[in-house]
Amino acid sequence: MIPFSPPRIDEQIINAVTEALKSGWITTGPRTKELEKQISNYCGVNNTLCLNSWTNAVELFLRWYGVGPGDEVIVPAYTYAATANIVLHCGASPVMADVDQNALMDLDSVQRLISDRTKVIMPVDIGGLPFDYPALFQLVKNHTDSFGFNPRSAAQEKMGRILILADAAHSFGASLNGVKAGKMADVTGFSFHAVKNLTTAEGGALSFNLPAAFDSAEVYRELAIKGLHGQTKDALSKMQAGAWKYDIIEPGYKCNMTDIQAAIGLVELSRYDSETIPRRKSIVQLYSKLLEKYDWAKLPVFKNERMESSYHLYMLRIKGASEIERDEIIRKVALAGVSVNVHFLPLPLLTCYKNLGFNINNYPGAKAFYENEISLPVYYDLSDDQVQTVVNEIAKAVESSLN
Ligand SMILES: *Cc1c(COP(=O)(O)O)cnc(C)c1O
Repeated sequence: MIPFSPPRIDEQIINAVTEALKSGWITTGPRTKELEKQISNYCGVNNTLCLNSWTNAVELFLRWYGVGPGDEVIVPAYTYAATANIVLHCGASPVMADVDQNALMDLDSVQRLISDRTKVIMPVDIGGLPFDYPALFQLVKNHTDSFGFNPRSAAQEKMGRILILADAAHSFGASLNGVKAGKMADVTGFSFHAVKNLTTAEGGALSFNLPAAFDSAEVYRELAIKGLHGQTKDALSKMQAGAWKYDIIEPGYKCNMTDIQAAIGLVELSRYDSETIPRRKSIVQLYSKLLEKYDWAKLPVFKNERMESSYHLYMLRIKGASEIERDEIIRKVALAGVSVNVHFLPLPLLTCYKNLGFNINNYPGAKAFYENEISLPVYYDLSDDQVQTVVNEIAKAVESSLN
C-alpha cells in the first residue's frame, strides 16, 4: 500500500518532542517563540505569529482587521473549504472568483468581483505554486485610484485599500521574483497540518508584511493577545516570580500553539531546504519524466522564469477524462494499493455553499480543473520505485477507463 501523504516521523522528531515534554514547559513558550523567529528569518519578514491552525490564525486576523457583516472577501472557488468558511464565521460574505488553467485565482474574474464592500482578497497558492501577487497589488492600486476604499475599522482606515491576504497553506518555501511566501502579500497564512509540507501535527502561522503605516511588532502583540482570551500576559510571563497579575482586554479566542507542536516544527524547519524540498522536487520531476510520454497526461507546472513552487501537490490532469472516468481511475488505482486524492471539490459543489446560492456552472475554470484532476502521492519517504509503481498503476487504470 502506498499512502498519500504520511508525515515524516523519525527519531529526530520523537527526540525533540520528548525533550519538550521533559522540559516541564508544554504550552506556548520558548520553543514556539523560537519557531516564530526562525520562520520570520526564513521568509524575510520581521514578525510571525504561530497559532494552532491556518483556520484559526487567518480567522483571528480577519476579526482583528474588522471584517464583519456587510463586508466581502474574494476567494477562489477552487480551494479547501477553510478559505471561505472563516469568512462566514466572521459574518462576512465570501465572493468566489474562478480559476485559470493552473487552478490559481483568475485576475479578470477578481477584477469583475471587486465592489465597495470588498475588504480582503485571499488568493490561494494552490499545490504550492505562488499566485501572481504583484499583478494583484497593481489591480488593487488601480481600483483604489479610481474608486477609493471604504474602511469600516481603524485598521482598514490605516490600510486605505483592499488588503491582500495569502492562503499559503501549501506554499511554505515557494518563491516569486526571489521573494519567499510570507513576504509576497500584506499578510500570509501558513498551515502546518499533518499533510502539509512542513508540519507541527496541527498548527499555523501568520507572517506580517504590512505597509509602513503599521507597526508589525504591535500587530503581532495585539493578535497574540486576541488569540489567548484577550489576556495581557501569556502563561510563561505570568510564571515569572511575582508576575501573576493580568488583565483581559476583550473576549478573545483560544488558539495558541503549544511548545510540543513547535518542537516538531523546529526540526521540520531545520531540514526543510536541505532535505524536504529537494526530495519533494525530485519526486515531482520523476513523475513528470515518467508521465510526459502519455498523451492523456497533462502535467502540473512547478516552475517558470518568475516563480518556483514548494512542490506540495502533484496535481495531474487526465486529458479527456470525465468526472465519472476520473473516479473510476481512482477506484482502480486504490484497488492496486495506491492512494491518490482530488484537490479539491470546488466550493460551489459543497452543500454549504450550494445552499448559499453558489452554482458550479458559473465557475467553468474550476469545474474543468476538478473533473479530471488526480493528486499523486508526494512525501519525503516515497521511494523512486514507488513513484514508478504509482505511474504504472495510473497508466493501467487510465488506459482501461478512457474510451
Ligand atoms: C489545509 C488548508 C487550509 C487549512 O489549514 P488548517 O491548518 O488545517 O486550518 C487552508 N487552506 C488550504 C488551501 C488548505 O489546503
